[in-house]
Amino acid sequence: MNIFVCISHVPDSTTKVRVGPSGKEIDEEGVTFILNPYDEYAVEAALQMKEKQGGEVTAVCVGNDAVKETIRKALAMGVDKGLLIKAERSRDSFGIAHAIADTLRDRSPDVIFCGKQSIDYDSSQVAGMLGELLGFPSVSAIVGLEVDGDGNITLERDIEGGQEISKTKLPAVLSTDKGLNEPRYPKLQGIMAAKRKPIEETEAAPYENRVQVMEMRLPPAKDAGKIVGEGVDAVPELVKLLHEEAKVI
Ligand SMILES: Cc1cc2nc3c(=O)[nH]c(=O)nc-3n(C[C@H](O)[C@H](O)[C@H](O)COP(=O)(O)OP(=O)(O)OC[C@H]3O[C@@H](n4cnc5c(N)ncnc54)[C@H](O)[C@@H]3O)c2cc1C
Repeated sequence: MNIFVCISHVPDSTTKVRVGPSGKEIDEEGVTFILNPYDEYAVEAALQMKEKQGGEVTAVCVGNDAVKETIRKALAMGVDKGLLIKAERSRDSFGIAHAIADTLRDRSPDVIFCGKQSIDYDSSQVAGMLGELLGFPSVSAIVGLEVDGDGNITLERDIEGGQEISKTKLPAVLSTDKGLNEPRYPKLQGIMAAKRKPIEETEAAPYENRVQVMEMRLPPAKDAGKIVGEGVDAVPELVKLLHEEAKVI
């Protein structure tokens, strides 16, 4: 099996976000980057598929040299090799999907795993676009996956109030959701081995964004809290304020 897993290099969720001087992007000063958490489920799914079906797993990331650090995290989990598709950082989702599709088209992928969404921009677009560009079926946010020896796959998704079971055939693009598996922690041996695993580099074709970010804003500061009193005596005033000011009861 020729298995690919697309990974995104995202700010740690504990990062205190600041808007940069252009007003259109996040200030990267002091930001720690991590492997996108939804992509950890994708890496685990790729590794489990290799363990059952045999083959090789390649982690793919579109970005600059900085993303090699994130590719190494996937290699430490057990991925065989990395593929860095070099591109300018400000690409929109379609530009990322294009760069991946152009690079993988001639590499005969059997399956391409993605995360459900990147936790920074939350677009949830790359996987679906990738499926369309490659002409592969694409199923989003899977929480269950079974593959037989003939390339038939059965997928499970959580939908409002229940589960949806679908079937399709490989090659396919599958995006992974929490609940699909329990991603393995890299062991010391894996972290050491990751340093020696290859990361191939290739250049993305030039691309002009279809979507432009015009402005980024932080949410308005919250009003200071109000202490209305203490104990049971404060309850009437609290109820009055919740009813008349906050209008929540
Ligand atoms: C301050 C800042 C700096 C950043 N710097 C970089 C950087 O230097 N390099 C970089 O690559 N990213 C960087 N990112 C992250 C990147 O900008 C986004 O994560 C990326 O654009 C995807 O966003 P999306 O919402 O379109 O993805 P979605 O459509 O929500 O992503 C869905 C899935 O598609 C796949 N995917 C998404 N993006 C990529 C990608 N770039 N490569 C491979 N697979 C992908 C993943 O499997 C992901 O789970 C940075 C983000 C911020 C906030």
